[in-house]
Amino acid sequence: MAICPKNKSSKARRDKRRSPNYKMKAPTLVKCSHCGALSEPHKVCKACGYYNKKSVVAVED
Ligand SMILES: [Zn+2]
Repeated sequence: MAICPKNKSSKARRDKRRSPNYKMKAPTLVKCSHCGALSEPHKVCKACGYYNKKSVVAVED
């Protein structure tokens, strides 16, 4: 037997369920442990190329 909804979802309810998934949001920023610049967590610092206290990417000027 298939699961069957008892009441029909209105267009407003249905569309509200789908709506907030494409919203833009401000990225979370943390201070780099090496240079103090703001960068996203779990990503290489864009200013100095450091990640986990080591230089992993050479930063060109
Ligand atoms: Zn840095």
